[in-house]
Amino acid sequence: MDDVALVRADNPSPLTLTGTNTWLVGRDPCWVVDPGPADLPEHVEAVLAAAGERGGVGGVVLTHGHGDHAGAARAVAEGGGGVPILAAAWEGATARIGDGDAAGPMLEAIAVPGHASDHLCFALRSGEACLTGDAVLGAGSVFIAPDPGALRGYLDGLERLRACRFARLLPGHGPVVEDADAKLEEYIGHRLDRERRLVEALGAGARSIDALLDAAWSDAPPELRLPATVTLFAHLDKLAEEGRLPDGVEERPEWFAQLGRHAH
Ligand SMILES: [Zn+2]
Repeated sequence: MDDVALVRADNPSPLTLTGTNTWLVGRDPCWVVDPGPADLPEHVEAVLAAAGERGGVGGVVLTHGHGDHAGAARAVAEGGGGVPILAAAWEGATARIGDGDAAGPMLEAIAVPGHASDHLCFALRSGEACLTGDAVLGAGSVFIAPDPGALRGYLDGLERLRACRFARLLPGHGPVVEDADAKLEEYIGHRLDRERRLVEALGAGARSIDALLDAAWSDAPPELRLPATVTLFAHLDKLAEEGRLPDGVEERPEWFAQLGRHAH
């Protein structure tokens, strides 16, 4: 089994579940994946203390640029002695990495866009496990940010992860996934099930955002109505890209245009 440790940030919420998972990979030195939110100095201290027991910090790596994962990147990199910060697109990164690139001696990036257009997962070199960030969580599903092709890219990314045949997934939130294949199948099936329900609702004449949500996301609790709405737009984009979206679907509200690509 890979030499990986978890330090969980105390930032629980409906979106972050029990908090952000910060992963420490390897030792002498270790590499820190997703250092956590900016506003929790005690978490930064805990990460640096755990890293100290593993021979210090070799570098900081981000699965994506959302604040609950990237906010503490500079603090941990500085606390680690000015080590590099590796990310696909985050503005504070000191080096840019993409699909297939190494991140330290033990990790290799796999692009899985969807939740964020810049999202990377990281395979352990052993091939036994994969750090999945917010592409696959330990519980529940993730919201998909509707950039062009986001949902198609996400489904393709999940299939690529499945083809790697990892035993375990180490997610950005929630517990370790001990059956990677079953979880990936569940995630792919979940997205296709939402699409099927959405197509049914459109076929039955629903055109308003509220009616489509009520039909296809009837199980989403009120506190997840906003991320469900964002994901609905990603599904509508996919149907439009495939020429399957009927006319007359309600326009996206102004708040959504302003939210842009920084949804979280
Ligand atoms: Zn995120």
